[in-house]
Amino acid sequence: MRFSRRSTSRTCPICGYSLQEDIEKDLASDAGSKSAAYTEAIVTHIQTVHPDFWNWQQSKRRLGFGLGIVTSALTGIGLFYLLAIVLQVPGGNWGGVIATFSSVGFLVPYALITRRGAEHFQSTMA
Ligand SMILES: [Zn+2]
Repeated sequence: MRFSRRSTSRTCPICGYSLQEDIEKDLASDAGSKSAAYTEAIVTHIQTVHPDFWNWQQSKRRLGFGLGIVTSALTGIGLFYLLAIVLQVPGGNWGGVIATFSSVGFLVPYALITRRGAEHFQSTMA
């Protein structure tokens, strides 16, 4: 296995601390995947070094989750109306389309809120 040579520099989005060592420690202690080790390293780092950010991010996450449910429901209803009622596409052909767009509709506000969150928090720290 040669993939471990590819060095991806993972840093904390807030203070720029390199998580590389923590990730390698996690990878050495239990045979998880690299991305799982990264998630664990950054969560541990944020919980211990930036507890304020962690609490703040959790509240943003709940907000993003709530908004995501709203937008995905609206997307689903809107598409159902468009496909089934306006365009009268025969049943069954639009189920997957609606499901796909609904999940995108769920993820977009969630991603926007959590991404903007780190930047915003960073600017208030500086
Ligand atoms: Zn940090």
